[in-house]
Amino acid sequence: MDEIFSGSFTQQEPLSEAAIEAALGVLRHGRLHRYNVEPGELGEAALLEQEFAAQLGAKYCLAVASGGYALATALRAVGVKSGDRVLTNAFTLAPVPGAIASLGAEPVFVDVTEDLVIDLDDLAAKAGQARVLMLSHMRGHLCDMDQLMQICDAAGITVIEDCAHTMGAAWNGIASGRHGAIGCYSCQTYKHVNAGEGGLLITNDEEVAARAIMLSGSYMLFERHLAAPHPSVFDRIKYDTPNISGRMDNLRAAILRPQLRDLETQVTRWNARYNCIEAGLQDTPGLRLIRRPEAESYVGSSIQFLLLDWTADKLQAVIRRCGERGVELKWFGGAEPVAFTSRYDSWRYAKPQSLPQSDRILAGIVDMRVPLTFSLQDCALIARIIRAEVGAVFQSK
Ligand SMILES: *Cc1c(COP(=O)(O)O)cnc(C)c1O
Repeated sequence: MDEIFSGSFTQQEPLSEAAIEAALGVLRHGRLHRYNVEPGELGEAALLEQEFAAQLGAKYCLAVASGGYALATALRAVGVKSGDRVLTNAFTLAPVPGAIASLGAEPVFVDVTEDLVIDLDDLAAKAGQARVLMLSHMRGHLCDMDQLMQICDAAGITVIEDCAHTMGAAWNGIASGRHGAIGCYSCQTYKHVNAGEGGLLITNDEEVAARAIMLSGSYMLFERHLAAPHPSVFDRIKYDTPNISGRMDNLRAAILRPQLRDLETQVTRWNARYNCIEAGLQDTPGLRLIRRPEAESYVGSSIQFLLLDWTADKLQAVIRRCGERGVELKWFGGAEPVAFTSRYDSWRYAKPQSLPQSDRILAGIVDMRVPLTFSLQDCALIARIIRAEVGAVFQSK
């Protein structure tokens, strides 16, 4: 009998008692709106911002309604306007080009490499086309950030980091989100902290921070923030920065604060699972694992591998056969976008662009979530199933 996995790939762990207690505290007093505070009271949203800024070593932080909202706000805060071109990854998730399109700006896609990071040669070649790069650390893979910043600094490009999959990760000891001008994080259920929905934005630039806070809908109540620049900075920008409401509420902030304190523990647990699956897939014929450079500290909340240059039929056979044994794999090479696996050519609001190198790699990317509800035994079993099914299809010429 073939082994079957019966766990759920979308079930996260329940919230901790500390998070539940914090939520009940907010529910009991009823002041859910972030600016609804009693005299002298420090609201949960403001405290979350203060703590996240300290955790990341950033001067300023803003909590918002979603990761996608943080990205769009970052673009607005650095002055991107309708019609501007913005460089971004060809391999990313739909909210990234979506944030660019929400301003009427135009995404210019940069190739992905076989290590699933932005292709720095293609970036250098396209550097003259835009003054902003929205860099997506898609699926938690960090490119050589030192080299990327060199290219962007030399070309006068402002870097916004999409850290939806790299909260808790670092390159050469510097946290993801602290290399560029702005770092954006998502707090929705499938990322590294779970508020249902939510986003965080960090920066060291006082004017960017002030604009972001005004944009998020601060109604001139910015003095209630604890990780904001001096009020005099707001005086410079408050009359010409529109309110595009997208605040975070105190309930979400309350359940996030204890989760952020646990982040390091969770990262260790994720990586134990990732390493177990990776070890189980080592040297599977036809399957290429993604290299993780020495300088990269990652968070293994999902795992990817390449079935490079496989025919679509064979690839689909692997996905189907693993699915029949309870292992849910996502493929980025399908003709139609399914769930979150859309590709740059699925985003038809962007100008059509030809990226043959990315086409070849995207056609081979297989992706799997690794929720913390999986035990290490589960992970070993999942790896055995993938290994067996990839092997069976690979040999069936
Ligand atoms: C989830 C995600 C986002 C946006 O986050 P939301 O909170 O869902 O808006 C941005 N980029 C990537 C790569 C993501 O996976």
